[in-house]
Amino acid sequence: MAAIIDGKAFAAGLIAHISGAVSDLAAKHRLQPGLAVVLVGEDPASRVYVRNKGRQTKAAGMNSFEHRLPEETGEAALLALVRRLNQDPAVHGILVQLPLPAHIDPSKVINAISADKDVDGFHIENVGRLSVGEDSPVPCTPAGCLMLLRHQLGDLSGSRAVVVGRSNIVGKPVAMLLLRENCTVTVAHSRTQGLAAVCREADILVAAVGVPEMVKGDWIKPGATVIDVGINRIENRDGQTRLVGDVDFEAAMKVAGAVTPVPGGVGPMTIACLLRNTLMAACRRHRVAIPPGL
Ligand code: NAP
Repeated sequence: MAAIIDGKAFAAGLIAHISGAVSDLAAKHRLQPGLAVVLVGEDPASRVYVRNKGRQTKAAGMNSFEHRLPEETGEAALLALVRRLNQDPAVHGILVQLPLPAHIDPSKVINAISADKDVDGFHIENVGRLSVGEDSPVPCTPAGCLMLLRHQLGDLSGSRAVVVGRSNIVGKPVAMLLLRENCTVTVAHSRTQGLAAVCREADILVAAVGVPEMVKGDWIKPGATVIDVGINRIENRDGQTRLVGDVDFEAAMKVAGAVTPVPGGVGPMTIACLLRNTLMAACRRHRVAIPPGL
């Protein structure tokens, strides 16, 4: 039976550590990190994410600035808000919740965020920095995946890693991080041939696909570590909905060495890493040493 990688507990420990570091910053440097979150429109999932981010930011002792704009907000107005936040000294991190309404170009908005306030790590400059191995804000979900892997396995060097999914927000940055850890990385996607066999080669298998329970037990190498990024809502026969990942969890538990559950695996790490990126952005801006253990 595989071990369950408890992302919820790990994230709680990380957030407690961040909260302690935030108190220290206030006491020693009279500095309070601030995170601005911008939501455009009424997407129900995005509203939940933004509410949670605000709540957890405040709980960690940071300033939270929420900007909720109507669906019909124009691109120029959103860009003007981003520019204002770039200039605001109380704001150390800016996050524009995706997806944006169809009439707004997301890359234009993301690249308008000052790169040093880009706590999502999606700015083209930060993507470039990550790819050449320079210090930069790392996208939150991929950073969370890497922390869980390091916690579970220690040194990842030389491991065969397969990442299923090549999105800019999860698959590609996860692959970059694993490469930086000296893994031998394969990135699979919807055109990959023989996907099951590719996955079976992995010591580390990361699924970031968005297809419920796609990765079956016999796709997993015995003893492998499986990180399930997927969050999919499915309906049971009784009409109740529940969350599942991209991995068949029950089957994976019989084969793998360790597996992240859904919920309670990667999900909680995303917000923890957002707080971590905000704290680090505040430290960099004020030339204060990054607290140890982050
Ligand atoms: P995305 O942008 O839709 O990308 C999905 C990727 O999976 C694409 O690269 C796609 O390939 C690939 N794919 C789709 N169907 C496939 C198939 N049948 N076989 C192989 N590859 C396939 O999704 P995303 O934003 O990366 O998110 C992936 C999952 O992670 C979703 O369930 C999402 O909800 C979840 N997620 C979770 C968190 C968290 O906090 N835990 C954060 C972000 C996302 P192509 O490129 O060839 O189309």
